[in-house]
Amino acid sequence: MTKLQHPKFTQFVEGFEDLLKSVSSEQVILERGRTLLQSLIAEDNWLPESFAEVGAGSYRQYLLHLDAESRFSVVSFVWAPGQKTPVHNHTVWGLVGMLRGEEIAQGYVFAEDGSLKPDGEPVLLKRGEIDAVSPSIGDVHSVENALVDKASISIHVYGADIGRVRRSSFQQDGTQKVFVSGYTNA
Ligand code: FE
Repeated sequence: MTKLQHPKFTQFVEGFEDLLKSVSSEQVILERGRTLLQSLIAEDNWLPESFAEVGAGSYRQYLLHLDAESRFSVVSFVWAPGQKTPVHNHTVWGLVGMLRGEEIAQGYVFAEDGSLKPDGEPVLLKRGEIDAVSPSIGDVHSVENALVDKASISIHVYGADIGRVRRSSFQQDGTQKVFVSGYTNA
């Protein structure tokens, strides 16, 4: 189900379909998928305004494309200044490409007592840059808009219908809460 008709986006979706048909290794999907996403976000001329609108209350997650077999989904995340996610996981592989503005991501790992501790320093994702998550490479993080005066937008690709995946948000002490994100435009 494609919600976005643009040659550049169609090319990206077809590239991902071909990739997932030919490859099952997560590592290779992330490597080659990174190149596809880099090419998609190299130009910022294909995302319609309706998928780029900020929300007053919370960051928005617009579904752009859902694969017919739910092998992958593509989502635009739109952040107003000050908006931030809770610490959360994904449970599937994901790629994040910065289309507009900048984000700060902080990864976390679990300490021996089950609480969360930062996994290194926060990472600034700049326009055109790509980040990756998955249970095998690091799946728990929080993300926020790095800009205090402008919206930021990142394009995410996940190895599932991410809006329907049961996953978790976490408090500092490791307390876990199951959530299903849905989509802003579902
Ligand atoms: Fe995330």
